Amino acid sequence: MAKSKTYIGKLKPRYSFILNQYPDFRASKCTNPKCQKLTHLRKFALFIFIEGVGPIILGKTCRYCSKCELIIAHQDELEAELALNLQKIAPQAIGNEYFVVGTFDKKLWQKQLQNGENGENQLTSETFNYLADFKKMLDLEIEPAGWYRE
Ligand SMILES: [Zn+2]
Repeated sequence: MAKSKTYIGKLKPRYSFILNQYPDFRASKCTNPKCQKLTHLRKFALFIFIEGVGPIILGKTCRYCSKCELIIAHQDELEAELALNLQKIAPQAIGNEYFVVGTFDKKLWQKQLQNGENGENQLTSETFNYLADFKKMLDLEIEPAGWYRE
């Protein structure tokens, strides 16, 4: 029997998430073979747990398919932005293991930014009231060109 997943956010889990590790693949189309619609860019407040630091919230523009509620983040971009963020708060943690947990309430996150508060320093137990875990973490599978047969 499948073990049920433990969610840490209090909001209802939403979105499927793919961390795209292929720098050449820009995911301009949805990777769901049954969908393949054009994706568009949308900014999300990603809640990321970093080994040795704890959770931080990172504003990140991702590829998004609204029909599948699928978020595709490019790993190279994500890690570059993470490193920029960590430079300010925990430079020793750059390169540490990390895990993208879900999305944070974007309005609240923007409000915190406007107030000049550093999202990463404002995390309390209440933070989890505004966190929605991802429903699904998917792996990106790209068929090598020329090898794909229906
Ligand atoms: Zn789709």
